[in-house]
Amino acid sequence: MGLIKLMVLIAVVIGLVILWRRFKAWQISSQRQQPTPTNPPLMVRCAQCQLHLPRDQALRVNDQWYCCDAHRDAGRHD
Ligand SMILES: [Zn+2]
Repeated sequence: MGLIKLMVLIAVVIGLVILWRRFKAWQISSQRQQPTPTNPPLMVRCAQCQLHLPRDQALRVNDQWYCCDAHRDAGRHD
C-alpha cells in the first residue's frame, strides 16, 4: 500500500510540474504577444546623392531632404 501511495504522490507531483511549466510558457508567450512600441527611425533620401538616412539627421529644404550642408547648398543652386 505504501508503494502505491508513493507512486500516486509522484504522479501528482509530476502533473503539477507539467502544469506549472505550461503556465509559465503561456505567461511568457502572452507577454511576447503584447505590442512593443519600437518605432524604427523614419528614413529619408538625400535629393543630391540618394543616400538614405534617418529623418532626424537629415536637413530639410522645402520638400527635399539632404544628408549634409554641402548637398543642401548644391541642391539649392540647381
Ligand atoms: Zn547627400
